[in-house]
Amino acid sequence: MHELGITRNIVAIVSDAAKGRRVCRITVDIGELSGVMGEAVAFCFETVAKGSPLEGAVLDIRRIAGRAHCAACRSEFDQESLFTPCPCGSRQFTRLQGEELRIRSMEIEEEAA
Ligand SMILES: [Zn+2]
Repeated sequence: MHELGITRNIVAIVSDAAKGRRVCRITVDIGELSGVMGEAVAFCFETVAKGSPLEGAVLDIRRIAGRAHCAACRSEFDQESLFTPCPCGSRQFTRLQGEELRIRSMEIEEEAA
């Protein structure tokens, strides 16, 4: 599964950044046009995180809707797919958002004093 590799990557990157500290929560942005299924990432997460600093951490997935700027009529419009044309009919557009796959933030557990 595509998402299993992505989830392993996310866990590896965050584990590395945590430098041995426990991670209690991570927030990941997944664009709706990225081709990545957030549900599948969530499904893999618990298993992949087991034995890592992310074990038991909360995974917060934010879906980013597809949006583009039209070069013809200069308006912004929502995109349900990578190929959704502007309502004016133009396919000349620049993607503004929706293809994200990034780790937005992580929360490290406070060390007991
Ligand atoms: Zn347009």
